[in-house]
Amino acid sequence: MPEPSAMPIDLGARFDNAYARLPEQLFSRVEPTPVARPSLLALNRELAVELGLPPERLASDEAVAVLAGSRSADGAEPLAMAYAGHQFGHWVPQLGDGRAILLGELVDSHGVRREVQLKGAGRTPWSRGGDGRAGIGPVLREYVLGEAMHALGVPTTRALAAVATGETVLRERPLPGAVLTRVARSHVRVGTFQYVAARGDTEALTALMMHVLEHHYPALLDADRPALALLDAVMQRQAALVAHWMSAGFIHGVMNTDNCSVLGDTIDYGPCAFMDDFAADRVFSSIDVQARYAWGNQPAMAHWNTAQLAQCLLPLIDADKNTSLGLAQASVDGFDALFSTCWDARLGAKLGFAAGALEDPAQAERIRTLGKDYLGLLQANEADFTQGFRALRDIETLRGLLDTDPAPLEAWWATREALLEETGTDRQAAQATMRANNPVRIPRNHQVERMIEAATEGDLEPMRALQAALAHPFDEDPALAAYERPPTPDERVQQTFCGT
Ligand code: AMP
Ligand code: MG
Repeated sequence: MPEPSAMPIDLGARFDNAYARLPEQLFSRVEPTPVARPSLLALNRELAVELGLPPERLASDEAVAVLAGSRSADGAEPLAMAYAGHQFGHWVPQLGDGRAILLGELVDSHGVRREVQLKGAGRTPWSRGGDGRAGIGPVLREYVLGEAMHALGVPTTRALAAVATGETVLRERPLPGAVLTRVARSHVRVGTFQYVAARGDTEALTALMMHVLEHHYPALLDADRPALALLDAVMQRQAALVAHWMSAGFIHGVMNTDNCSVLGDTIDYGPCAFMDDFAADRVFSSIDVQARYAWGNQPAMAHWNTAQLAQCLLPLIDADKNTSLGLAQASVDGFDALFSTCWDARLGAKLGFAAGALEDPAQAERIRTLGKDYLGLLQANEADFTQGFRALRDIETLRGLLDTDPAPLEAWWATREALLEETGTDRQAAQATMRANNPVRIPRNHQVERMIEAATEGDLEPMRALQAALAHPFDEDPALAAYERPPTPDERVQQTFCGT
């Protein structure tokens, strides 16, 4: 009999670990490293229930010890995933989970497989020089931004829990350590495919593709060419994802291929940010010196990333190289069209136009121009992106926000009125479309920074308040006005950092 403290803890749901059954080139088995004093910082009860994990049990000392990596979970088969990637365009043949450990998979209440991963759980064979740990700042940042993203309706990894380790991590200064429990339908990235493809390991490549198809794109198993169908599906999801991000003013910041999910979920909340005043070339990340991942550059980068996936899948598309190349190239060339369709729909909806208004190509073109012109007005006025769209409810509110030269604004408004008329868009319907597509509250950088500073000093109240404020981002609530307003010049955050 193992001693009681070594007994695995039953979290209340049964793990079924498909990833651990894949060829072993794809991962290394590794146990989390125990920490000094685990204590719960935040628990996502709603997500726990969805995963079949009883929240009360998850909040117990024993379960918190599991979430900190100090105890093992019954049925878990901990592993660190292998992956490679292009970081800022530069090929890195080996990255991998340097501080994240997959505990295993649960099938949720909708029948969807979800991976449960501890981020900051200690060193792995992929840690290189890193300590395998995470500070409380990046952990709470990912928790709050990920959950806010979910509330906005954007596909994303989720946060199940954040746990303090009672240890210190050394970054620019010593910081309290923490572990995030991250939940994703899958953590497979373009970089995972790159890892095996670059090694010419067709066995592992095939197994990886089959795993992704079986569990996440089962309908594509019957396609003539499943590998090509997978490429098309990932391109479609990435196009939709980036359009959705951009419509919320989100800048991911590190769209490297290792941070590009083949499920089309937002993954890796590092130096990402939601912008306040609009500029198409806005960048926050301190390390993105060439503005590669600027707001308006994100579609081109998703295109580039999916082209890397295409490269990996070539051997699985057709036995003949030239045939594969021709088919993959034709798919990849379709990215711009995929993105445009998604973006037209998102921007159109932000202006009050339902999908039907975009069916006529001439009208779609005029709505597209209307959107472009509006973004131009926002940028010229250094107006707040979120408030700028919310202000479209009436011309008075808009005049109040864009208070410079009124002529271009009045002309733009008249054009929009005409287009609403022409597309037969009912005014009430337009208002409802806008309310459903233009959030009132986003995780503003200055609020996020404030919540991190407080939590670092041991005060979790700002985090709880911020999270609550972001749970229903489309609903007006005068009591939450403080979370709506843009930063004052003193509060403005100019740069964000990875903090890894
Ligand atoms: P990211 O910038 O978070 O996407 O991470 C890039 C790579 O660095 C991944 O392979 C991570 O696992 C690794 N990494 C980041 N932080 C650490 C750390 N503190 N210890 C070990 N590896 C890390
Ligand atoms: Mg990453």
